[in-house]
Amino acid sequence: MNTEKQSQLEPLYDKKVDCPFCGKRFTTKKVRSRFIKPLRVDSDFCPIFSNGSHSPLYYYVVICPECGFAFTEDFTSYFSHVSRDNVNKEITAKMDKNVNYCGERSFESSIRTYKLAIYSAQLVKEKHIVFAHLCLRLAWAYRGNGDSQEESRFLKLALNEYEKAFINSDFDSEKIPEMQVLYMIGELNRRLGNYSEAVKFFTAVTEHGDKSKNMKYVNIAREQWKLAVEENRIKRKA
Ligand SMILES: [Zn+2]
Repeated sequence: MNTEKQSQLEPLYDKKVDCPFCGKRFTTKKVRSRFIKPLRVDSDFCPIFSNGSHSPLYYYVVICPECGFAFTEDFTSYFSHVSRDNVNKEITAKMDKNVNYCGERSFESSIRTYKLAIYSAQLVKEKHIVFAHLCLRLAWAYRGNGDSQEESRFLKLALNEYEKAFINSDFDSEKIPEMQVLYMIGELNRRLGNYSEAVKFFTAVTEHGDKSKNMKYVNIAREQWKLAVEENRIKRKA
């Protein structure tokens, strides 16, 4: 087998990325699309991969080796003066250039990339939906590693951010249908044991004005609604 063919079989490849903050072009590892077929998908859309495979979740966040800014494709590329000052002072000035997140990542290093991205997002006042996506994926990473305590902690934070995104209409409904946001609020409430809230939001999905366009959410909301009612009944009996 020649080297070119071997490199094509590698799950990771070098992707060229432009830093939205400082403009530096660099390469960072991503997982090839043919390696990201999950075995199954959980009811909160968490993809489950076979053991030992490279989880694309580990490479969701990109960190610029030049300025230290941590971001995802959801981040804006517009920064106010205040945001620029915040990142320069709190991230770039304090970064350790010996630590580089552009190579292969372990579970632990991927966890750090999420926490750095949450910090970057706070400094530049990102949209609630960006925080929701980060916290949800961080919860999934903990789930994959069997840490249910940290999983719940970040599911709660994700839920809080989805609620704020919904209340403030702080998301692009062309990219993320409102029914998806409502479903996520329902499902995260169910996973956290808040059954009456879960039922309220699943009902909002099944009665939504756009339901004919998004039957996928209506169908899963019906299933999860039944599950939430059943779980609530068991909880009351106990
Ligand atoms: Zn940069």
